[in-house]
Amino acid sequence: MAHKKPILLAPAGSLDALRAAVYAGADAVYFGGGDFNARAFATNFNDEEMESAFNICRLYGVKVYITLNTLLSDKELPRVLDFVEKLEKHYRPDAYIVQDLGLISALRQSFPHIPLHASTQMQFHSSHCVEVLKRYGISRVVLARELSREDIKKAAECGLETEIFVHGAICVCQSGGCLMSSFIGGRSGNRGKCAQPCRQAYGGKYPLSLKDMCLAKYIPEICDMGVDCLKIEGRMKSPEYVWETVRIYRGLIDGYRAATKDELMRLSALFSRSGFTDGYYTSRKGPSMFGVRTDLDKEKSRALNVEIKERKLPITVSCEIKEGKNAYIKATCGNTSAEYVGEMPQKAINRPITAEELTARLSKTGDTAFLVADVSVDVDSGLIMPMSAINALRRLVLDRLFDEITKSNTPARNTERKGFSQKAYRTPMDVRPMSVARFEGKAPSERLLKILLERFDRIELPLWVTRPDLDYGDKLSLVMPRAVYDSDGEAIKALLQKARGEGVCGITVPNLGMLPFCEGFTIHGDYPLNVTNTLTAAELSKLGFESYVISAEIHPKGISKGVAGGEYVVYGKAPLMHTENCIIRNAGQCRDKNYCKGVITDKTGARFTVMREYGHRNTIYNSVPTYLLDKTGELGGVSSHILFFTDESEDEIMAVLNAYEKGLSPNGAFTRAALKRGTGVF
Ligand SMILES: [Zn+2]
Repeated sequence: MAHKKPILLAPAGSLDALRAAVYAGADAVYFGGGDFNARAFATNFNDEEMESAFNICRLYGVKVYITLNTLLSDKELPRVLDFVEKLEKHYRPDAYIVQDLGLISALRQSFPHIPLHASTQMQFHSSHCVEVLKRYGISRVVLARELSREDIKKAAECGLETEIFVHGAICVCQSGGCLMSSFIGGRSGNRGKCAQPCRQAYGGKYPLSLKDMCLAKYIPEICDMGVDCLKIEGRMKSPEYVWETVRIYRGLIDGYRAATKDELMRLSALFSRSGFTDGYYTSRKGPSMFGVRTDLDKEKSRALNVEIKERKLPITVSCEIKEGKNAYIKATCGNTSAEYVGEMPQKAINRPITAEELTARLSKTGDTAFLVADVSVDVDSGLIMPMSAINALRRLVLDRLFDEITKSNTPARNTERKGFSQKAYRTPMDVRPMSVARFEGKAPSERLLKILLERFDRIELPLWVTRPDLDYGDKLSLVMPRAVYDSDGEAIKALLQKARGEGVCGITVPNLGMLPFCEGFTIHGDYPLNVTNTLTAAELSKLGFESYVISAEIHPKGISKGVAGGEYVVYGKAPLMHTENCIIRNAGQCRDKNYCKGVITDKTGARFTVMREYGHRNTIYNSVPTYLLDKTGELGGVSSHILFFTDESEDEIMAVLNAYEKGLSPNGAFTRAALKRGTGVF
């Protein structure tokens, strides 16, 4: 099979970085505009810079992807639509990279023709995401970064365009699922404001700091898989970094080859944290994936010499100055040409214009991006033209050439904005208030479950753990793992089949790619769906979800006039991170074959519980529980509650149940989480 040549996508955190990417040979760049993207601290272009950015990219035929990959509140949604309207009017980007389901729905209705790419923040792990992405007219999926080579291959066959990360920093937490920065420092990673708690020390070590990813050794086999786009991370990185990484990967893709030892050394000198990792790709997880930036790393970076070279666009120019005819000039760049007809030449009285003179004059391109590779002139003898007229010929034909190239590199589409109303999506929030008891890690005892079944409307237990054999009626919902890869597919299907056989009614689903597994079950939306606005909730309802968790990052009043089925966590240690690696095993402390639990301690002494998840992955929980058992009347009309249990003893659980019934104040350490600020981290 002939291999596919994927396009190379580079970060453009500043105009200088964008130029560096373009000169080094990127096929596409991505950057944000306004406040609506996952790098709130990268330079987001203002109007003038936006124009320059598009001018450069269109001229060089480099595609532009605009990042809108952040979660939004109801209030912000109209502002994003206005922003897109402006971009559509002036530039028509080649795609928008999106995360928020509500925004996707709003964009689809307002601008039916714009291309959308599903951000890695949407947490798509497998080929099973195809159905839902097609439903929303999303043409490309940016796959989660945790995929193995086999899972990437499978996903690349799914029928949509696929994009993978090949180089740069990666999160230890699964994309789109990190609440750690939000809960510890009030800076939401989902809002582009990650404070990088994963780079901090825990117990004097760095158990969460992953090395940067580098797949430069695997480019030929990645091309063979049919992946459509290879992405370099780094909107916070320098132009030199962007130039050198793009230059090297350009060579690898064009040459259909793996990086040389020298190229790998240069990449590592540019930026690394004690070297690179390919652990996800090669399925070799473990402590070797982790590293911090050492003095030696910094020394290597200082010693590296990187010089960004401007790349001009070669053009050919032909010009005719003939007696009795207007001067004619034509400039050609690649397949695009422009012409200009100027003044009529006069008879020369003393010194006529020569071919040499005209050639020299037309070879100058000043500060344009063009470089004259060839000039042909046809000049009748005995004629004269003022220098200003000859300069104007050159200038005006280059202006026209610029316009022609820009036009030919701008997608043609209908950019008209269609009306749509957010209000139309609202339904009464709580048709029937629900109370939900949710368990992480292990199922509770039969004795406790019997009590819970009497008092709660729904019990949520992990799909993969053994549970007491009881009559759960229609109250049991089994929670899917946070990630289901294609390689997990058969095992998960078998677990679901078994659950069906046992009469289990509900499945709690953390991402949209898992919907194809869940036929026949009542579907509940789990917290990683990140519901932060009414429209997202409404879309989940359309997709068949009976309930959804309102994001712990917002005050529920943010969507309190929202959509039926909204539930809010009123008690529990929030799940802050979900990791592919077992942090406990990496520390050499994973002893039980079936279950492991540990703790990491930050420099303030806060102790975060770590518990095993499906596939020996981990979840890291907040050091203190969110406690709103005495605030249930202040949730903006949301009266469906989730009690989220992690490592509490059964006595402690009984005390929580009592506090919930009586609305008791907390004793012991706790957080009010999003209620603390009134609006959460938004
Ligand atoms: Zn373990």
